[in-house]
Amino acid sequence: MSKEITSREQDYSQWYNDLILKGSLADYSAVRGCMVIKPYGFALWENMRDVLDRMFKETGHQNAYFPLFIPKSLFEAEEKNAEGFAKECAVVTHYRLKTDPDNKGKLIVDPEARLEEELVVRPTSEAIIWNTYKSWIQSYRDLPILVNQWANVVRWEMRTRLFLRTAEFLWQEGHTAHATKEEAVEETVKMLDVYADFVENWMAVPVIKGVKTPNERFAGAEDTYCIEAMMQDGKALQAGTSHFLGQNFAKAFDVKFSDRNNKLEYVWATSWGVSTRLIGALVMAHSDDDGLILPPRIAPIQVVIVPIYKGEDQKAKIDEHVQQLVAELKALGITVKYDDNDNTRPGWKFAEYEMKGVPVRIALGLRDLENNVAEVARRDTKEKNTVSLDGLSAYIKQLLEDIQQNIFNKAKQFRDERITPANSWDEFINLLDTKGGFISAHWDGTGETEEKIKELTKATIRCIPLNNVQEEGSCILTGKPSTQRVLFARAY
Ligand code: AMP
Repeated sequence: MSKEITSREQDYSQWYNDLILKGSLADYSAVRGCMVIKPYGFALWENMRDVLDRMFKETGHQNAYFPLFIPKSLFEAEEKNAEGFAKECAVVTHYRLKTDPDNKGKLIVDPEARLEEELVVRPTSEAIIWNTYKSWIQSYRDLPILVNQWANVVRWEMRTRLFLRTAEFLWQEGHTAHATKEEAVEETVKMLDVYADFVENWMAVPVIKGVKTPNERFAGAEDTYCIEAMMQDGKALQAGTSHFLGQNFAKAFDVKFSDRNNKLEYVWATSWGVSTRLIGALVMAHSDDDGLILPPRIAPIQVVIVPIYKGEDQKAKIDEHVQQLVAELKALGITVKYDDNDNTRPGWKFAEYEMKGVPVRIALGLRDLENNVAEVARRDTKEKNTVSLDGLSAYIKQLLEDIQQNIFNKAKQFRDERITPANSWDEFINLLDTKGGFISAHWDGTGETEEKIKELTKATIRCIPLNNVQEEGSCILTGKPSTQRVLFARAY
């Protein structure tokens, strides 16, 4: 396979696909809209999952697992949620195939094996979970329930894109139950903070925390909180959501508890999720025309060591040194790969690890050994340095931290330069077409205006930032009064 990558300037979308495929993160599959996550991509997901899982547990959550299928009668119980997801649902109607009597070797759905009740393949699990919580919750002593599930979900998306929007995707979904509204709102915001912490400090992608408008809210939620990230083409990406569900699901599934005064009350709910979309965010936020750039803190391989030698004698000498270096790096908690595969040349390996976004590469030849040095290359800036073998592992540890910080700073500067205020419609349109990014503008607060702006420009309100200041102004489209600016952008 050719390792040529389309440049971002030439075709941003093709550049992205090239990186995913040639960086060995994923592959297309025989199923429309569904992808194969390859071992390297899955190792990245596992690292992300492990960190998030630890953060969830540190905030008091436990993992559980609920069925993939939701009986249609349960699915439709919370009407808004059902209506919102109905158009993307895959539905199981039969449980058996049989040989086609008219066409041997082919299978047909057995008409006699129709399910009494159709099963919806979960697009999200509130329904099956709240149906279960009904039997788990009787009194205030049973609350809160702080449960998370790692799972796959299916949303029959019409326009798909590797990682960013697939028909089946992997995610986690937290589903919590609380005795009071205040506690549920607090949980919703707490989990948004966990997401922001993870995405900024581990993935090195800066985010804006905000609330969605009613039009963009999760179906069945009272409030949807989100984190929004900026990609290198100036488009926004919703990177995670945390929903305050009010008592909507408790009412739909009749989940009540007796409070301290023995009064029956409906339970308050939240749900929150991030998905494999985050991998797409990572790729689009950091990578360059030579391949992936992965943040050290979640990179599957943090350091690769490539030996440069002629003949077995030289190799043996290098091996001996590398073994010690590998042991030292591992002792510092660094993930290191020694690539001494002699089927490929060093130059090929350099390009390969550059493509895969390995943060640090160490090249070691016999001459280097004699001089007690190694060549250290960092992927983010492509800088190369000759570094003494004495104290090399400590140097590498510090370098990985510097790279993590540098990647974040770069993405943050890029993002900050692309938050621009617009005070008139012309300015708004002009910014969208020339600069892109987030546009901070006044909006009259109505769903109609929001819809109209989307129709005219394809820009949506990404969020009402949590740290917004109140400011008198007039809507960029209708001129009607407004009390605050919101962030618009074209988005994935
Ligand atoms: P939601 O349940 O709609 O709030 O979505 C939860 C999380 O899943 C959000 O972080 C979304 O960005 C992500 N997500 C939604 N749809 C898809 C999809 N088709 N492919 C990948 N991720 C998705």
